[in-house]
Amino acid sequence: MDFDDTPQEAAFRAKARAWLEQHAKPRDPNAIAPNLLGERESADVIQKAKDWQATKFDAGWACLTWPKEYGGQGLGRLEAVVWGQEEGKFETPPNIYGIGHGMLGPTLMAHGSEEQKQKYIREMARGQVVWCQLFSEPDAGSDLAGLRTSAVKDGGDWVLNGQKIWSTGAHFCDWGMIVTRTDPNAAKHAGLTYFIVDMHAKGVEVRPIKQINGGSGFNEVFFTDVRVPDANRLGAVGDGWRVAITTLMNERVAIGAGGGAGRYRDLIKLAQETRRNGRPAIEDSAVRQKLADFYIQSKGLQFTSYRTLSALSRGATPGPEGAIGKAVGAPMGQEMAHFALELQGAMGAVADAAIAPQDAVWQEMYLGTPGLRIAGGTDEILKNIIAERVLRLPPEIRVDKDRPFREIPTGSVK
Ligand SMILES: Cc1cc2nc3c(=O)[nH]c(=O)nc-3n(C[C@H](O)[C@H](O)[C@H](O)COP(=O)(O)OP(=O)(O)OC[C@H]3O[C@@H](n4cnc5c(N)ncnc54)[C@H](O)[C@@H]3O)c2cc1C
Repeated sequence: MDFDDTPQEAAFRAKARAWLEQHAKPRDPNAIAPNLLGERESADVIQKAKDWQATKFDAGWACLTWPKEYGGQGLGRLEAVVWGQEEGKFETPPNIYGIGHGMLGPTLMAHGSEEQKQKYIREMARGQVVWCQLFSEPDAGSDLAGLRTSAVKDGGDWVLNGQKIWSTGAHFCDWGMIVTRTDPNAAKHAGLTYFIVDMHAKGVEVRPIKQINGGSGFNEVFFTDVRVPDANRLGAVGDGWRVAITTLMNERVAIGAGGGAGRYRDLIKLAQETRRNGRPAIEDSAVRQKLADFYIQSKGLQFTSYRTLSALSRGATPGPEGAIGKAVGAPMGQEMAHFALELQGAMGAVADAAIAPQDAVWQEMYLGTPGLRIAGGTDEILKNIIAERVLRLPPEIRVDKDRPFREIPTGSVK
């Protein structure tokens, strides 16, 4: 990858910037990067996010890499990166489309029928309806193929029963992508089927979960005799695992480095503004060494993500190497937040944005980053993926892989 813009990229950047200048307020370049972990979406914030998405869509700036026939712009990944860099310099509402646009849109594109693509993708790009991912269950997180939410065929419909958990945004979403068990007699990866489910359908109950940071970004979702038409099936019956893998591969790229990447400038500023033993903390050699470590890790992550982007722009599909960014970035974010609280001394315990340094972003991050080490694959699972699928080390022993699902022992009361 060439780090300088090509003449075409420079022209595209100028066009994007000119449009943004007309439609949004520039962000103060010295301001602290906004806090994105709060997940306290009020109806007002959701509406602002929807309005911004519609404005972008109507002007041709939404879902740039998606095909034109489905409402995208048919552009390359690098243009999308340039757009993201420019948009990031402006004050815009939080992105509530990470799951829909980053993961579910690409899954629809890869596995949807033409009718499903026409029906959902353009609408998804314009963002007036929002989508959530209904994969995890109380007994099926890392071992997603252990899920038990059942779908039973009844005439032209499927009837869903079971429980999902940690469903981000489900409380304000209109559609969900769900993986269900349709054949308990098949081996656990084989008996699954993937559906699009209407979150307003009868029998869907969403219960928000209160988080340590005060927000309620994710939910438990209960399904009681929920009817889903067969037309909402994505992929073949029993082929849900293959469809889900497309979502998960895109999830790794969409989540990216998470946590710490890009925050080191704020941390340097904090060290300049904070005093330690009567001097600015940044003059302390132990502090400087720590900052240098974070800088090196951040740069390593940045160049790894450039390498992935270069490969994607040449037509590669997201692969297991996408796990590396999060495996490094999420723990780094947590360490940075911890270090920032140490630097702040007693003020580190203050969560009030009006008085805590840098609007208490580090306090918020300290509470939010443990979740980022779990979401989209825990540290351990990412390391397993890197070991098995990037380094080609011997795989974990999986004794239940070929047994019929109903014969696999479980500790849960059913
Ligand atoms: C902020 C957040 C948002 C989320 N959003 C969504 C969402 O929108 N939709 C959705 O479907 N899910 C969502 N999730 C759920 C997430 O995908 C799961 O929490 C995650 O996959 C881990 O599953 P689990 O919580 O069941 O933990 P478990 O899988 O039970 O893991 C418990 C511990 O055991 C370890 N472990 C498990 N298996 C292995 C193994 N084979 N080798 C080594 N160690 C292992 C894990 O690493 C972990 O430390 C979200 C989670 C978070 C934190």
